[in-house]
Amino acid sequence: VLDLHGDPIALTAALVDIPSESRDEGRIADEIEAALREQAAGFEIVRNADAVLARTNLRRPSRVLLAGHIDTVPAADNLPSRLADGQLHGCGTSDMKSGDAVFLHLAATVADPRHDITLVMYDCEEIEAAANGLGRIERELPDWLQADVAILGEPSGGYIEAGCQGTLRVVVSAAGTRAHSARSWLGDNAIHKLGDVLARLKAYQARSVDIDGCTYREGLSAVRIDGGVAGNVIPDAASVTVNFRFAPDRSVDEALKHVLELFDGLDVDVQLTDSAAGALPGLTAPAAAALVEAAG
Ligand SMILES: [Zn+2]
Repeated sequence: VLDLHGDPIALTAALVDIPSESRDEGRIADEIEAALREQAAGFEIVRNADAVLARTNLRRPSRVLLAGHIDTVPAADNLPSRLADGQLHGCGTSDMKSGDAVFLHLAATVADPRHDITLVMYDCEEIEAAANGLGRIERELPDWLQADVAILGEPSGGYIEAGCQGTLRVVVSAAGTRAHSARSWLGDNAIHKLGDVLARLKAYQARSVDIDGCTYREGLSAVRIDGGVAGNVIPDAASVTVNFRFAPDRSVDEALKHVLELFDGLDVDVQLTDSAAGALPGLTAPAAAALVEAAG
């Protein structure tokens, strides 16, 4: 059984030692749920797929939400955890089982919190946004996400990073006509058409935006390229996948419009394949201001 009262570093190691690649979080969710039910007195606890939710109902004037994903990227020969020279190693240690451990430890040990607390330990953060457990909770249990301030335990080196950037992916596809390369003039080369796409990406000047004193640096990047049939064939199809990380003053729709405008006039088709909205920092909210002050 996970010991929520003990040393949070030992708890981090125990969490890391439960493999939990995205879509395979059943066991770690079972263990977290069992530990909370046994060790977090006074919490209302709910299981939602492979997410575990827990909250106090103390009628405090404000509520703090502590959230962490319990999945990891695929392990890379880095399990179980090991402690070397005072540093813990292992898949998911910093992102973000250490954050989860701190939140679970707080749930079990803070006897008389000043704020009501909601704990959200969720699944499938490291994969496509449509699978994200937080989105499912928003659809199925929206009242569990009501709070005055939310703290995500992602690694930030101990600093508060307020808000978050949005992200979207598009696949930019060019079509052409196949032909034998010995008679290339009979074909229409789809890969060549991507040259203009890449030129616009290379020349693109990303914005830096200041919101509530936080600087958001946008980025528009080709992250994958596909195309080609054989060594002697003019290709009839090619595509480049583009990822746009955008500041939270743009909505997903506005960000998509911006990307479409960049490729305007080119002989390509642009399809949105994934998106997640950003979040404004909200540092002017009283609960957030108190957090910033407490953190120094
Ligand atoms: Zn993470």
